[in-house]
Amino acid sequence: MTDLTKKYGTMVFSDHVMKQRLPSDTYKKLAKTIKEGKPLDLDVANSVAHAMKEWAIEHGATHFAHWFQPLTGITSEKHDAFLDPVGNGTAITKFSGKELIQGEPDASSFPNGGLRATFEARGYSAWDPTSYAFVKDEVLCIPTAFCSYTGEALDKKTPLLRSMAAIDEQCKRVLALFGKHPAKVTVNVGTEQEYFLISEKDYARRQDLMMCGRTLFGAPPCKGQELDEHYFGAIRPTVNDFMKELDDVLWGFAVAAKTKHNEVAPAQHELAPVFCNANRAIDENLLTMEMMKLLASHHGLVCLQHEKPFEGINGSGKHNNWSIGSEDENLLDPGDTPEENLQFLVFLTCVIAAVDDYQDLLRMSVASCGNDHRLGGHEAPPAIISIFLGDELSDIIEALAAGHEAGHASRESLDFGVAVLPTFDRDTTDRNRTSPFAFTGNKFEFRMPGSSVNVADANTMLDTAVAKALKDFADAMEARGDEPFEVAALSYIRKSLSEHKRILFSGDGYSEEWHEEAHRRGLCDFTTTADALPSFVAQKNIDLLSEMGVLSEAEVRSRYEVKLEKYNKLMNIEATTMERMARRTYLPVISAYATKIAKGITTVTDAMPAAGMQHERRELATLLDGVNAIYEGIDTLAELHAKAKACECAQDQANCYAHEVAPAMEALRAAVDAMEPIVAREYWPVPTYDDLLFYV
Ligand code: ADP
Ligand code: MG
Repeated sequence: MTDLTKKYGTMVFSDHVMKQRLPSDTYKKLAKTIKEGKPLDLDVANSVAHAMKEWAIEHGATHFAHWFQPLTGITSEKHDAFLDPVGNGTAITKFSGKELIQGEPDASSFPNGGLRATFEARGYSAWDPTSYAFVKDEVLCIPTAFCSYTGEALDKKTPLLRSMAAIDEQCKRVLALFGKHPAKVTVNVGTEQEYFLISEKDYARRQDLMMCGRTLFGAPPCKGQELDEHYFGAIRPTVNDFMKELDDVLWGFAVAAKTKHNEVAPAQHELAPVFCNANRAIDENLLTMEMMKLLASHHGLVCLQHEKPFEGINGSGKHNNWSIGSEDENLLDPGDTPEENLQFLVFLTCVIAAVDDYQDLLRMSVASCGNDHRLGGHEAPPAIISIFLGDELSDIIEALAAGHEAGHASRESLDFGVAVLPTFDRDTTDRNRTSPFAFTGNKFEFRMPGSSVNVADANTMLDTAVAKALKDFADAMEARGDEPFEVAALSYIRKSLSEHKRILFSGDGYSEEWHEEAHRRGLCDFTTTADALPSFVAQKNIDLLSEMGVLSEAEVRSRYEVKLEKYNKLMNIEATTMERMARRTYLPVISAYATKIAKGITTVTDAMPAAGMQHERRELATLLDGVNAIYEGIDTLAELHAKAKACECAQDQANCYAHEVAPAMEALRAAVDAMEPIVAREYWPVPTYDDLLFYV
């Protein structure tokens, strides 16, 4: 091993460590649990817990924690010491199988959307042996699912695991039709995490960044991203030091951080790990986000993970690269032979059908207060979902949908059998950066998720929708009677593609024409979170989630409530911060500067009555108009904010925030921003975009 490879995985209780440290029958039983999802018996758990504790203490741990993903926020943990006093002034270390398998965090303050009354607040967390435990800052963190005692999921991991089980089950049914029987089919995910780095000192001087994670005010900088000099540009030393430390720490956690580079916007960067199964990939991403925030502070920096920290500058997303596969093959790989291509076409068709049927649910899954500022901007996909397949594949799919033989005569022929995709050149899936859901060779890239969110939601909905489409296909094939499988499969594909081709779009997703065209096609277009969330509780989506065993109706309704509540709370924080900053940070200095100019005019004209001071008078008038506009902006915002707060129904409140408060916030911002370029620099009370974006 080189020094580089030695660093890798040192802080995780990995499969490799388990094999070394566990008695071999324990290891085998655990491996079986992990592979097949079998329940773990207590003896095995005790043995694993002991080995885990010894290992963790050797790696500096003093505490253990069940590490879980509540419905809001990113991750949660409560630390318990390994030490246990024995009564004579000494202590031993203790960590039982029971403590490993199940924890009882006092969870009364976690959001649950009415699933539990607070008096019966004790949910429990259950060990997820399919993701590695790790030592972080002297704590053994154990990835866990979090449920109520009545069995409802209170976290994001549980439904994700259920959706992955649904994919596994349905993919196996479909593969069986092709005579294949893999032990397991899993979902693979690679997340590309975008983020900004700014100076800690500047951050501390901006209430909006501290309270909301984004700037609520700020005129455009003198220089933005128009020179395209930042993208893939040389990484500056402070940032580089941060990235090196981040890589080191992540490699220790067996997070395969692979690619790092500067992004399009100044001060923006990206990190992409090597993909792995979705459950672990999401745990890794959450850990990565946490480490980014922590390690930035070692370098005098703050890591902003908000989707749109700066108006007029590119926002941050988290491209979610998604595929499904067994140990032997990637099911989204077109393959080299016609037989493989029929299989590929089945899976492709099911993804297309799923994304079309459940576009509203997918849109809902990426809706967040922050993402509202990003989607539909000119740097991120629009809020309308469509699929990009690349020219060659699109042609084939369109021909199939139209009932033609691919690239051949227009006659519908059932006997062309399986020779559907003669040779498919993967590299022709040329990139379309404007597509929200693009096929990129052997995976789909879902580009709508925002940088700050847990992508468990998006993956859960995607997996569930695709599992349903696969189920429909398998059901139809199993009921096909005497018809040969290939013939039945092909006609199913044709029918399905012709029903769902409206979701395919290869053009410019940013353009105005696409919006009009999408509306003509009947695709849903939810511009804000408030508009997108009701899809969660649409009957067809409740039916889907319960049919596939992913979320019960009660779970869906509670999650919808939690999402609404979170949106409303964030909007309330933003509106409040804005009113305060406008009144207490900006108005006093703009007025003071106006007064200074007024005094200057008086002093000079007293001394020299002939001095016209026209320019100064005009400047003063502009400043006074600006002050008026700000006062009016504050009044309007305060009035609409009060109206929103008075709404009793959470959905009405969200609608009011999205459609009345948000525009008032924009107007107030514009009034303040208009003053920034004319007020003397020494008066301006906060770091400007020039300072924030070009300091690091
Ligand atoms: P880009 O050019 O968009 O940055 P890359 O090919 O570098 O794309 O991959 C981006 C992410 O996609 C990485 O995290 C990578 O590991 C992941 N990825 C690659 N292949 C797959 C796959 N088959 N399934 C899921 N994710 C994948
Ligand atoms: Mg990408």
